[in-house]
Amino acid sequence: MQTDSSHLLFSKKSFPCQNCGANLVFCADEDALVCNYCGSLNRITPPPLPIKEHDLHSALKKIKVKNWSLQHPLQEIKCPSCAASFSVDFHTRSTTCPYCHTPIITNVDSLLPIQPESLLPFKINRDEAKEIFKEWIGSLWFAPSSIKNIYDTDSTLEGVYLPYWTFDSLTITRYNGMRGDVYHERVTRRVFIDGREELVEDIVERIEWTPVSGIVKLSFDDVLVGASKSIPRKLIDSLAPWDLENLVSFDERYLSGFESEGYEVALDEGVDIAREYMRYQIEHAVRADIGGDRQQINEMKVYHQNNTYKHILLPIWSADFKHNGKNYSFAINARTGKIVGERPYSKIKILFAILLVILLAAGLFYLYDQSQEAGGFSTNFDNFGEGGIHIEIRRSF
Ligand SMILES: [Zn+2]
Ligand SMILES: [Zn+2]
Repeated sequence: MQTDSSHLLFSKKSFPCQNCGANLVFCADEDALVCNYCGSLNRITPPPLPIKEHDLHSALKKIKVKNWSLQHPLQEIKCPSCAASFSVDFHTRSTTCPYCHTPIITNVDSLLPIQPESLLPFKINRDEAKEIFKEWIGSLWFAPSSIKNIYDTDSTLEGVYLPYWTFDSLTITRYNGMRGDVYHERVTRRVFIDGREELVEDIVERIEWTPVSGIVKLSFDDVLVGASKSIPRKLIDSLAPWDLENLVSFDERYLSGFESEGYEVALDEGVDIAREYMRYQIEHAVRADIGGDRQQINEMKVYHQNNTYKHILLPIWSADFKHNGKNYSFAINARTGKIVGERPYSKIKILFAILLVILLAAGLFYLYDQSQEAGGFSTNFDNFGEGGIHIEIRRSF
């Protein structure tokens, strides 16, 4: 592998307008490359190749033999348009020149063992993304008033293609455990009420356990694992669902004008994350298979068959905003418009809400107390919940 710190990477390809020679950028509305100068449209017709699934084990073996590393120094880029030099993170696949805004595609893909073969193009454009963010901020409860103005500043809203792995697997799981069936039993006990001894009958829950074992088959299709480390996994995961049935063959022209990253989560790391998710689903299926009211799983042996993977790119709009010196980030699924994010809370608004609840509660209690003033009151909260909790409240005046 031929990387060293002084390696200079140039844009592999540029996409000049056939009409005027200016740079073309991908436009979500037209689903085509558009020239910002003369308005020419340049459609991308992806080859109608079927999106291939690859054998996981042979890929893992190949990577191990070559001993690929994902740790590299910054890339130095020389803009093909204005000749300015600047450096970007090693993982950057596409970006724009910070000086002249020329879209640049790096050659990071030639340095990574696995290249993306398909992607979902941007469908939500920048203005729509801003509108979605504006609505989201406006709908937040307890958000500080000052952040409601953030969307007016064009801030750092960025269109990014994030790398993902998808995994398929047919799982066969042998398990053994216990099935618990709940039944109820009447028991009597002695209690003292107002100094007198009384017998009280309770209904107590009991569980009958029987040993069980079995086999559960579960097949997984396109389990998605985000392969970026620049955005928190929780945020990436909550951007789902994605319309993966609309994947098109990878073409660098889709990246023109957007940021794009090579993967930072390696294939074997991705498999581990996917299997953790699969195991969680399998456990659910095993519990359903055991049946009864309670389940105990003592052992679960999972065999994975027909293991395949794909490497794909998915489009998001993302931005960070600062509030009171703290950074908050949010992201929008650029296919569906779904927005997810961290958000600040206004301490003052929350304090007022709590005060209001306390005042309301105090008011209600006062009214209630007034209405009970007339006489004694006795309530039996019997069978409170299923556990047969027995509460007796007696008040005499
Ligand atoms: Zn043009
Ligand atoms: Zn430039």
